[in-house]
Amino acid sequence: MKIINIIKKLPWTKSNGKLDFKKLNTLVVHHEAVYAPKAYNTLNRIVADAKYQIAKGFGHYAYHYTIDNVGDIYLCVPENEVNYHAGNLAVNKNSLAVVLQGNMEIQSPTKAQEKALTDLCAYLFTKRPDMPKLVKSGLKMHKEVRKGGTACPGRFLAPLVIKLRK
Ligand SMILES: [Zn+2]
Repeated sequence: MKIINIIKKLPWTKSNGKLDFKKLNTLVVHHEAVYAPKAYNTLNRIVADAKYQIAKGFGHYAYHYTIDNVGDIYLCVPENEVNYHAGNLAVNKNSLAVVLQGNMEIQSPTKAQEKALTDLCAYLFTKRPDMPKLVKSGLKMHKEVRKGGTACPGRFLAPLVIKLRK
């Protein structure tokens, strides 16, 4: 598994504060909620999303990791930075966020995306002794940590999340 670091290529206005790796206990899975065509430019899509989130008053892009439709994994925000992604501040302060590009209410994740999320989970849950409380039982769907108002990460992605935390 390779993680492509694009932090420096994304717009950034301000920090939201720092995560404490010792308390970090949740990985929240999101979908982008925008239909993904078969071919597109991943970086352009992430930059556009980051600009939209900044326009809403967030300091920067809202997800640590982004997985595109060919299964490439991008590190978009430093792992120790708080992201405003869950709609729940207490969760934001103790979680990492991963988003899969596409709208998983109307399309399925690609096989490559499913493998990338599986690999990323295995890495974060078993190969990161600096994050001792981040284990597979802490894998959550966005809709589980937000009090209503979202179908995220979408009905076609939910089964994989449930499988990966068993
Ligand atoms: Zn979400």
